[in-house]
Amino acid sequence: MTSEIRVGFNIHPRWVQGTTLRTFLAPLRKAGLSVLEFELDNHINQWEEFEPLMEATINEGLGISFHAAYRAPHTLVGYTTGKQQEIEQDYRPLLQIAENWSIRLGNPHPVVFHAATAPAPHDKGPLIEDTVAFLQWVCNEFSHLRIALENNSVDAKNTVKLGIAHHDVLTLVEKIDHPHVGVCWDMGHDIHGNSPVAIEPEWVNKVIHVHVHDVDNDGLDHYPLVLGKVPYKEWLAKLKAVNMKGVVVLELKGERMKGWSVERITSALAESFAAIAKEVA
Ligand SMILES: [Zn+2]
Repeated sequence: MTSEIRVGFNIHPRWVQGTTLRTFLAPLRKAGLSVLEFELDNHINQWEEFEPLMEATINEGLGISFHAAYRAPHTLVGYTTGKQQEIEQDYRPLLQIAENWSIRLGNPHPVVFHAATAPAPHDKGPLIEDTVAFLQWVCNEFSHLRIALENNSVDAKNTVKLGIAHHDVLTLVEKIDHPHVGVCWDMGHDIHGNSPVAIEPEWVNKVIHVHVHDVDNDGLDHYPLVLGKVPYKEWLAKLKAVNMKGVVVLELKGERMKGWSVERITSALAESFAAIAKEVA
């Protein structure tokens, strides 16, 4: 049986500046890349270029996936305490983009979400309620989406975050209680210090989407898979074993590669995609 896991990359229009999408993609497609993931955040740099780039990606024959806005000023805080309308107005046009693509392409598309975060100090109870109610609204309002709730990173100075431990993410998924909700396993976020977390079957069975990136010795994450810190091979094998259907997205931050030559970046990307593709084939 061939695997139904595809290999993706979180794209930003910056990556194709000074070149074309086709030229940028050529060596990466050869290495196994077949999906691009887009943030849905109208406050991000070059936002006006995102939708044209989605069109171009589809025209090039690749698939697409989405990451819902999570940076300020976007927030889920207050959804159940007076800000419901405001928050829905903020997210509705952004999520509609993903919904429209799902309808147009005739199959449900994944959208990754982070649970609510708030400046410390803040009680976790209301954050849980905001996250659950908001995602229930998303499920009901956008029936063509697949909601992937991501395990958050730990690095949270002066921030209260939900859904860092797998158990907490699973509890949120259970509370949302909708067949369109699963988990985005961010493998890089599971590396805290030197010991990776234990991976339970309950977790693996709920995964519908993956983010993978490497972590350096200072705990800085979102590098290509060149540091050997994240046991992604072993973890992807677990997903393959349960016939996970979905996309494994190499999720990078461009600033981690500042000072690298274009050649070095391209080969680090291609090697990362080839390494993922080999594991999920
Ligand atoms: Zn992620």
